[in-house]
Amino acid sequence: MYICYIDSTNMIKFKERRGVLTANMNKELISVIVPCYNEAEALPFFFDELDKVIASMPDYNFEAIYVNDGSKDATLNILRARAQVDARTRYVSFSRNFGKEAGMLAGLRSANGDYAVIMDADLQDPPSLLPKMMELLKEKKCDSVATRRGDRKGEPPIRSFFANCFYGIVNKISDVELVPAARDYRLMSRKMLDAVLSLSEYNRFTKGIFEWVGFKTEWITFENIERVAGKTKWSFWGLFRYSLECIVAFSTAPLAISSLSGIAMFFLSIIGTLAIIIRKIIDTSSSISGWASLVCVMLFIGGLQLLCIGVLGQYLAKTYMETKGRPNYIVAET
Ligand code: UDP
Ligand code: MG
Repeated sequence: MYICYIDSTNMIKFKERRGVLTANMNKELISVIVPCYNEAEALPFFFDELDKVIASMPDYNFEAIYVNDGSKDATLNILRARAQVDARTRYVSFSRNFGKEAGMLAGLRSANGDYAVIMDADLQDPPSLLPKMMELLKEKKCDSVATRRGDRKGEPPIRSFFANCFYGIVNKISDVELVPAARDYRLMSRKMLDAVLSLSEYNRFTKGIFEWVGFKTEWITFENIERVAGKTKWSFWGLFRYSLECIVAFSTAPLAISSLSGIAMFFLSIIGTLAIIIRKIIDTSSSISGWASLVCVMLFIGGLQLLCIGVLGQYLAKTYMETKGRPNYIVAET
């Protein structure tokens, strides 16, 4: 239980059993949002780093919002303990694992700041970049400062290859321009944050949403850093599904491509039929032979039809999820 009052020096003070907390009303508030899934090993390092950054930015007030995404390790206990000793810390804990997208959404929704920044708990998004990001945001008068990795050092080559293919395809067929190797690590103004939250879709691909809402964005490139502890939560198939999510969310081109290929097949079959009829008219003794080639053609067309139905199914499935209007996550504890 807090008692809140403003003293003669324009400071908001919170009185609580633990003591008195202070926040200067003249300073702007930065909300740091940290999605955490099984990050018990990394969190102590993260706290230390964040404390250093907060100490180096005395002109701002801070709040840190940790989202425990149904962790199975001691993450929740660590967050509870941190919230006890650090007044700037709040946490939201999900009833199960809902994925990083849901975690980021929950964090953005509970942010009170004039600015919000999303960071990974594993220090792969170095908190030490924050002062520079803030400076750039002010200097360039923009609404967002985003980050990208300069290289993919330490990443399996096959993952980098597919990532590059993904960005190539998405940027060709979708209505958003994704920056290759972009991280979710991004500082944004309240204006942009409100715009991001105004998109209420269930199937979220936040990197795409950031681009879709627009606003002036500056980019900072940093060298890839290995995670400080624990291991990555992304499997190859997880990433593959996530990239399909992006394509379906931001492009209807696959639907157009499947209809176009259907039309092309239709015309090809007409040309083939005409060719057979003309050959029969010219040379009445010729007969059409070769069942093997016929089977190949049938398989080809059958396969194409299944593919197109599959593409349709993807969009239908997403529409189905949207119409259900289910919440993106369930909060068990805050
Ligand atoms: N994360 C999450 N829910 C998940 C998976 C990941 O909240 O289901 C968090 C994770 O704790 C970390 C961030 O998202 O803070 C990035 O995850 P990770 O480091 O595993 O991804 P990578 O950096 O390997 O792409
Ligand atoms: Mg990571």
